Amino acid sequence: MTLPFFPPDLFDDDRELLLDTVRRVGLAEEQKFILGERTARFEEALREQIGAADVVACGSGTTALMLVLRSMDIGPGDEVVVPAFGCAPLAASVVNVGATPVFADVHPWTMVVEPYEVEQAITGRTAAIMPAHMFSVMADMPTMRSLAERHDVRLIEDSAVAQGGVLDGIPAGRWGEAGVFSFVQVKTFGSIGEGGAVVTDDEEIGQRVRMLRNHGQDGKQRFVHHFVGFNSRFDEIMAEFQLHRLAGLAARLERRAQIADYYTERFSGLVERGIQPPPTGREGRCFYVYSLLADRRDELKRHLTEHGVGTHVYYPSPLPAQPAFAEYAPPGRFWPHAELASSRILALPIYPHLTDAQVEHVADAVCAFPGGRP
Ligand SMILES: *Cc1c(COP(=O)(O)O)cnc(C)c1O
Repeated sequence: MTLPFFPPDLFDDDRELLLDTVRRVGLAEEQKFILGERTARFEEALREQIGAADVVACGSGTTALMLVLRSMDIGPGDEVVVPAFGCAPLAASVVNVGATPVFADVHPWTMVVEPYEVEQAITGRTAAIMPAHMFSVMADMPTMRSLAERHDVRLIEDSAVAQGGVLDGIPAGRWGEAGVFSFVQVKTFGSIGEGGAVVTDDEEIGQRVRMLRNHGQDGKQRFVHHFVGFNSRFDEIMAEFQLHRLAGLAARLERRAQIADYYTERFSGLVERGIQPPPTGREGRCFYVYSLLADRRDELKRHLTEHGVGTHVYYPSPLPAQPAFAEYAPPGRFWPHAELASSRILALPIYPHLTDAQVEHVADAVCAFPGGRP
């Protein structure tokens, strides 16, 4: 049995739907391929599902973050506190609007940014804090909210991987003044190309983001640019495809959650052997990626490859250690938990169409690892 980490057959069940959608949009009389009525219907469906005041579909999760930052007039001279462990867009979106990312360390087990570290990183120049939900755990948003209020800074929620997650009865995406989703293939609501969305309860942010995604135009008058924006528009084929797939999202997320439950149960006794599963439960969880922590990570990865199980290291290096962000890593500052996480983390396959036998095979392979401390 060989299980790839990224399955090539992710959309096999939806292939006819995809081809039909291309035909429908391609043959439609209006010949509208971006920001048409399908995009509007998709935004409305998402908005209703999550109960937000506005949802604005855009070109990617990364530009969604940039649109939010720009909608809040965050730019040169401003600092934004971001996690030291995570994906490049967390810091790159900040740099690309001219602001300065300030890295805060993460929790050693959950790997989401630590409120205490965020608070330590706030200065007189801080314009916003931008916690991110990671792998299968939502950030401590109640504390982030109170931090933002107490220090009078904006709260941006990187919920790119957490669509469907709920914490204290509030869905991921609605904890910040604005949140984002990503529809790139590997995400839980992944699609056939690039796409993202901004979610907000603040109508003014929604309106500004709507204009910013299309070069500052208001959608009424063409070629009047109220401010400098971006090209971050949404595709009509993707809108229709995602509208159809939205119906099955809850079931796919539930299947991911069941797989995660099973793995965690099987791995609960492995701590002595240097393998730690993520926290249990459903509250504040998102099941995008199932990541273990392993003392002998590289050996475990090899062992799993030998047993036909594809794995992936998200992320092999903390953000401040990346050449791209070196100038935002002041000498003498350290992010030891991010460092440790990047050397211990290993993600297992968790896609919803894994069979029970395949899931069992993955768990058996992990449990067969001799382990031990390095
Ligand atoms: C994927 C991701 C993004 C960026 O989304 P793209 O659609 O790939 O641009 C941002 N933040 C996090 C935490 C992500 O995982």
